[in-house]
Amino acid sequence: MKDEEKIACHVCKKEIPKAAAVHSEGQEYVLHFCNVECMDYWKKEQEKKKEEE
Ligand SMILES: [Zn+2]
Repeated sequence: MKDEEKIACHVCKKEIPKAAAVHSEGQEYVLHFCNVECMDYWKKEQEKKKEEE
């Protein structure tokens, strides 16, 4: 029996199967997103933070 691991999207906190998650690339750590829209949203937030510093 296959145990489907679920994780929460980093942006919207929706629970999704880990296998279906979108992963951020080129980061020190891997983040999981339910779709590319959430990943894009997170990327934009990261850019905003950089500008504020
Ligand atoms: Zn999401």
